Amino acid sequence: MTTFNDLGLDRMVIKAVAGQGYETPTPIQQQAIPPLREGRDLLGIAQTGTGKTAAFTLPTLDKMARKKQQKQPKSVRVLVLVPTRELAYQVADSFKAYSKFLKCWVEVAIGGVKIGGQIRALKRGAEVLVATPGRLVDLIGQNAVNFDQLDTLILDEADHMLDLGFARDLRKVMEHVPDARQTMLFSATMPKEIEALAKEYLFDPVKVSVAPESTTAERVTQGVHHVAKSSKPRMLASILSDPGIDRALVFARTKHGADAIVRQLDKAGIEAKAIHGNKSQPQRTKALEAFRDGTCNVLIATDIAARGIDVRGVSHVVNYELPNVPEQYVHRIGRTARAGADGVAVSLVTADELYYLCEIEKITRAEIPVLDAPEGLEDLILPTPDRSMKLVKPKGPQTQQRSNKPRGGGQGQAKTGRPAAKRGAAPAKKKSPAAGRGAPGGKPRRPRNNKPKAARA
Ligand code: AMP
Repeated sequence: MTTFNDLGLDRMVIKAVAGQGYETPTPIQQQAIPPLREGRDLLGIAQTGTGKTAAFTLPTLDKMARKKQQKQPKSVRVLVLVPTRELAYQVADSFKAYSKFLKCWVEVAIGGVKIGGQIRALKRGAEVLVATPGRLVDLIGQNAVNFDQLDTLILDEADHMLDLGFARDLRKVMEHVPDARQTMLFSATMPKEIEALAKEYLFDPVKVSVAPESTTAERVTQGVHHVAKSSKPRMLASILSDPGIDRALVFARTKHGADAIVRQLDKAGIEAKAIHGNKSQPQRTKALEAFRDGTCNVLIATDIAARGIDVRGVSHVVNYELPNVPEQYVHRIGRTARAGADGVAVSLVTADELYYLCEIEKITRAEIPVLDAPEGLEDLILPTPDRSMKLVKPKGPQTQQRSNKPRGGGQGQAKTGRPAAKRGAAPAKKKSPAAGRGAPGGKPRRPRNNKPKAARA
């Protein structure tokens, strides 16, 4: 069995890992750490829950330990781009935990809080900066950070960054990072847009993949109730009253929907907190803390706010509404059954949502069984629909669509109220015609996509 020692990591990193109680590297760590220690670029297909954060954090810290450097004002050595504020804090916490015995200053730059503190913090420089793309573009525009010392770039949950409309901000950031760097791109799914990103920003990457996107977490017991929309509040209250529930994460499709569920549950005597993009950062942190420490064991979340939340001991996931992006279902139910535990995922499905159910079953390659009605609520259960019927994709509001639209509507980032182009960012530089392609003669080389010609010399 491979151990962290076998991976050749610096002993101070191994000491910190041991302090976390990890005994063996997870599959993504086993596959990713050796090539990353060799300095290779990496494309990792892995969801949260697989140990992917440590898969990029540990070799990055190992590199730092092997190649010490004095930090310079405003300068960062490692840049991690993440889609949401919650994930930013989580990744920063991982860096802090695993660098306990090293000298490593970690800063976080996220939207939704005042920029002044971040500018002041970056004046000292940092070994690691974890940032959301929009805020980082603002900081670059204000000349608060430079990447002269940058040797490692990590794009975490890249598919989610694109989903949130960060493509343009990402591109702007890429114009400022040096070509000579190690790049790691992690994504839970591998749509064409991610393939294109990888082609453009990674140099001859090693590809590692764990738990393919369409495989539902095996330890999650799944089921559906076919109900009318009006029955959902009673069904949910009944499900959540089950004494077998330790911690339940309930998914709503919209922010208003999430708030409405909190109110409905309150009427039923069940305390719940909501986490979504309309909540301020302190509110989100408070809700998450209450959920983590068990003072409130029901958290209502939208997909975007929930992504990246790593809370152990989520026993139940309830899909109050099904997501209209089937991969999102896999992410949702992956919130339970973490770190070897078992979990339950229950979905409340109306006739309108049958199309989405079929899409989910297609990608998970399994039919989700219909559950028995909760006691006393038998009259709320609708007959199991005939699956041979042709289903039409419902029209109406979308939970989440992959798009390249500029940021502003995403819940993971506060809106600035200004168009992206006017946020003080440096003007986009012209792309070289050779961008992202191999050199003549077929020899691969670092894509020179992010520097103007003059700056490349
Ligand atoms: P991630 O996929 O990075 O979100 O990690 C999911 C969870 O797994 C986190 O709570 C980590 O602390 C935990 N974890 C990461 N690596 C290991 C390991 N080798 N052994 C046990 N738990 C781990």
